Amino acid sequence: MRTTIINVSNRLPVTVGETITKSSGGLVAALEGLSPEDYHLKWIGWPGGSTDDPARQKKIEQLLVQEHGCVPVFLSEEEVAGHYGGFSNSSIWPLLHYMPNFMRYDPAWWEHYRNVNQRFADKVLELAQPGDLVWVHDYQLMLMPGMLHAAMPELKIGFFLHTPFPSFETFRCHPKRRELVAGMLGAHLIGFHTFGYMRHFRSTVLRLLGLESEITRIRSDDGHTSAMGVFPIGINAPKFEETLGSPEFAQRRDDFLRANAGKRVVLSVERMDYTKGILHRLDAIEEFLSRLDVNERDSIKFIFVSVPSRESVEEYQELRADTEARVGRINGQYATLSSSPIRFIHSSVDFTDLCALYATADVGMVTPLIDGMNLVAKEYIACQREHAGVLILSEFAGAAEELSSAVLVNPYDARAVAQTLAEALALPEEERRACNEPMRARVMQFDAQHWARSFLEALQAADISRSVEPESAENAAARLRAAMGGGERVALFLDYDGTLREMEREPRAAKPTPEIRELLQGLQKLRNVDVLLVSGRSHQDLELFFPEPDFSCVAEHGATFRRAGQREWVQWDRDISYAWKEEIRELLRLYEHSTPGSWVEEKRTSLVWHHRKTDPEFGTWKANQLTHELGTMMANEPVKIRQGRKIVEVTSAQVSKGVAIRRLLHEHDYGAILCVGDDQTDESMFELDQPNLISIKIGAEPSRARYRVADPAAFRRFLRELLTAARDGNLHTAQPAVIH
Ligand code: UDP
Repeated sequence: MRTTIINVSNRLPVTVGETITKSSGGLVAALEGLSPEDYHLKWIGWPGGSTDDPARQKKIEQLLVQEHGCVPVFLSEEEVAGHYGGFSNSSIWPLLHYMPNFMRYDPAWWEHYRNVNQRFADKVLELAQPGDLVWVHDYQLMLMPGMLHAAMPELKIGFFLHTPFPSFETFRCHPKRRELVAGMLGAHLIGFHTFGYMRHFRSTVLRLLGLESEITRIRSDDGHTSAMGVFPIGINAPKFEETLGSPEFAQRRDDFLRANAGKRVVLSVERMDYTKGILHRLDAIEEFLSRLDVNERDSIKFIFVSVPSRESVEEYQELRADTEARVGRINGQYATLSSSPIRFIHSSVDFTDLCALYATADVGMVTPLIDGMNLVAKEYIACQREHAGVLILSEFAGAAEELSSAVLVNPYDARAVAQTLAEALALPEEERRACNEPMRARVMQFDAQHWARSFLEALQAADISRSVEPESAENAAARLRAAMGGGERVALFLDYDGTLREMEREPRAAKPTPEIRELLQGLQKLRNVDVLLVSGRSHQDLELFFPEPDFSCVAEHGATFRRAGQREWVQWDRDISYAWKEEIRELLRLYEHSTPGSWVEEKRTSLVWHHRKTDPEFGTWKANQLTHELGTMMANEPVKIRQGRKIVEVTSAQVSKGVAIRRLLHEHDYGAILCVGDDQTDESMFELDQPNLISIKIGAEPSRARYRVADPAAFRRFLRELLTAARDGNLHTAQPAVIH
């Protein structure tokens, strides 16, 4: 069966004028190379320009849809300025490229960015059918995956970032950093060019949103999972192969060879962008030229193809002016009567000419300060078929990971780049060929089509099932109501922190709200209902939170118990030895000392090392280390060592919430036993072998519980609805409680 791909990029691959012409960018080649038997492609994006005339819009739309499979989203001039020139290119682009000094921000741009993302999302929602794949591209549309996922959770969404993703320290400068990252996480698959970008993204998600990730997956709080992957984009290989074999190419190549006879040619091709390192390269060229004798200067020619880009943005206008001034100065200083060293071309060039330039240049000089991938580097290698030039490549281009036989340079080090250039020009042909051949084979094999196919295959394989299934909790509610309505006795074993009450950074701050008190008291007062709070907290803590014994409380995972209506706490663990605590206390203190923000909590049955307030990555690393050390030390002791949510906990193996509940279950014959909890210690309740057990996990982590509820607020609603139904005598209705 054919899969429909709804491909969304800021710009449609068309130019709309009197007629509509399709452009031939890399993305077009990648997607059009997909087998039409497997995929049907629809493309959504801005067609360029702006027109308010509805009749013209309609006409353009008809032509685009019918003839090009493209669906336009028309943008006003103001929207383009705010969304594209402003938010995308003046705030996100510089940050993604580690250049916060170029970042500007205007809150009005954010409105445009959000609105344009929403308009694109709405267009997708108009078209999408179940089973379609949506592929969203790049930094102009970072919010779109989140918008789509919220509106249509069953839609499979992929997102590819064509730029680098910087370290958290840089990304955090953006005023909308959280919103942007959260938007990306709406996707089921997020692709990057390199592992480094993916690593930075993971770390940023952890630091901004507190979401831990496995190596290639991030699970959001609502249970939605985003897989991540590395997919380095490639060039349009068939097009290069075809052109290199054409007579037009041979003609242009010969023209260039003739025109440059007796000269060594060094070529740079790029969009005029400050990330491309143009000024730094001019420094290196100046340094190189300064070392030449006057009579050597005629033998070298630098060709700069500098494609105009984002000319409405101030920083780009300045870059152009600076570049032209520098080129003028260098040419003035180093020109001879017969030639000047730099030929600066501020326009795009014809594709065949580009290939001929690549194929005749002795050196391809690709020295961006930073670049997501850099296709020019790969294209230069693709054109070294008979010819054998040298690629000088910045180590800060994504392409450097794959093109490791290129001559890698640090573009910030002008002297070293100048020196490298001199060495490159002197490299023997055999050596140049030996470097280029394996790189060329790689570039031609892993091309744009391969990239698109592998991303789409991974997207198709991505899991879109959410681990939180609220409807299953509806069944839990129905079962409870049936038992209560049938006059049976019901036990509610409820964990406190993370279950009834949201966690706080400071555990003592997680006081019960009036709502929680009222809920628990109300439920306890119902006929045939026993409320039992089952907590890992000390009984002193529970006493402080609930001074009145309105309901029963199990403290310290089952070591102490206070029965409803009685004031004293009973010890249930008299015969159990905690001598092992002595052995590990000192070790935990050492970790407390060496990990700023961490602390040790001593409970009756356990010792806990908390790292909730530490640097998240450092804390997790230390927690792994501590767990390992404890495992070795405590191998023969009756303890359980557990790494939980921001804690490492050592507990007596003879005391658990499950053991405590079993003890209480002997007292009555319950028609339904509800056990609810959010963390690992609650699993011992879920593992009880009881036919009437109704187990609910709060949150999205893996669990043995049968039902799930997303968070404490949703669980309070669950209890509220139960209480209301019981009070109204509305227990037999088939209508299940609704959990939002
Ligand atoms: N290119 C072009 N017209 C030109 C010169 C170059 O379209 O006159 C193409 C070039 O072949 C390459 C792309 O522009 O495919 C530049 O891609 P790259 O990844 O190097 O940089 P980006 O512009 O995406 O930052």
